[in-house]
Amino acid sequence: MFFHKTPAIVRWFYPQLTWNMPKGSQDTIYLTFDDGPIPGLTNFILDTLDQFEAKATFFCVGENLKKNKKIAENVINRGHTLANHTFNHLNGWKTSHEKYLENVKLCQNELENLGQQKKILRPPYGKISRKQIASLIKDYQIVMWDVLSGDYSPKINPTDCLEQTVRVTKNGAIVLFHDNLKAEANVKYALPAFVRHFHELGYQFKTLCMD
Ligand SMILES: [Zn+2]
Repeated sequence: MFFHKTPAIVRWFYPQLTWNMPKGSQDTIYLTFDDGPIPGLTNFILDTLDQFEAKATFFCVGENLKKNKKIAENVINRGHTLANHTFNHLNGWKTSHEKYLENVKLCQNELENLGQQKKILRPPYGKISRKQIASLIKDYQIVMWDVLSGDYSPKINPTDCLEQTVRVTKNGAIVLFHDNLKAEANVKYALPAFVRHFHELGYQFKTLCMD
């Protein structure tokens, strides 16, 4: 069973994490893209967002930031936010406490070199221990998601990815896509149609970094 909408029970277990955003006066969606930046797909996403004046948050893997610095700068210059997805895309449940914290810091150093001062973290796979949360929450806003597009899954096709993601997205939703080659076919089909659909309904698309 594939949950596109994060079940309430999961949120209830982790109330200190951010699962969605408060509803403002205008309907708003918070698009997020995990795992990049990478050549090709990240630029496709940026071009798609520009067509609708949509802004988004990119949760970057530190080693990809290092390899693809020009693309990362392009993301910032086009008004989006870069955020932390650890340096090596680590699974918190399988990583020692010290190593995990150090890896988050390494990614944050790359972000700071690019001028991103805000500390916003999404744990890869959504897997982070209570102890890691307790340490990191002092400095970081830890952001999960409300809507999972499932774009990376080989079990989902582009039309289902689009339809299911549209179906469960509401005002204030944090929606997760990937700038990862595993997700490319689904993202290239679903993202432009998703943004167009909600744009025509009057929604705006904002980054998680409000100031
Ligand atoms: Zn990831």
